[in-house]
Amino acid sequence: MKKLLIFMLILPFLACSHDDDHGPEDMGIMFVENPERTIKVNIFYVETEETSDKSSYNLDEGEFIEYLNGYYFHRYGIGLELGESRVLINSELYDLRDNQGSEPSTFFMQTQDSYEEDKINIYIIKRSNIIGIAGMGRIQRVLLTYENLFTSTSPHEIGHSLGLFHNDEVKNIMSTTLDKQSRQVFNGNQEDKMKKRIDELKYGKSISAR
Ligand SMILES: [Zn+2]
Repeated sequence: MKKLLIFMLILPFLACSHDDDHGPEDMGIMFVENPERTIKVNIFYVETEETSDKSSYNLDEGEFIEYLNGYYFHRYGIGLELGESRVLINSELYDLRDNQGSEPSTFFMQTQDSYEEDKINIYIIKRSNIIGIAGMGRIQRVLLTYENLFTSTSPHEIGHSLGLFHNDEVKNIMSTTLDKQSRQVFNGNQEDKMKKRIDELKYGKSISAR
């Protein structure tokens, strides 16, 4: 536990969401017809050799993208579009319990060859195979636990993957509050930053130093 705490202090924006999360209860769904910015989302189902022939995940991808757009992104003029989805066989990533404390470096190393730089790449693993972390996000890559897909953890980690850091404003999606049901909004700066980042990724404009 102490080890995890130190790790969280060092890398506050890499791994977050200690606790399981819940969906937005008092938020309205909002779709816009032509969002100003769009970005494709690839989905990777992480499996091992042993599990690869079973469909161990049962996700309605269209519903998931609609959830993200309707609750979190369309209202800011950002539209997520389903890109490719496939199974990724990677036993290192499938079970991160052996890598407790170094999950982010393991994640970024193990996804180096599969992610596409101009998209958001979501890697899904099982909640039972990672201890104390509900998700991670950075550099167009997001790790989400299957059990937390339809929660504010998803837009939070997507925010990280588009360059956002933590922000503890009330109701902010990038906050680290324990009451994750209250995470509902991006602020104007965050909206601008995400849009700028999408432009950089899509049109290759100069990428600012991190
Ligand atoms: Zn975070």
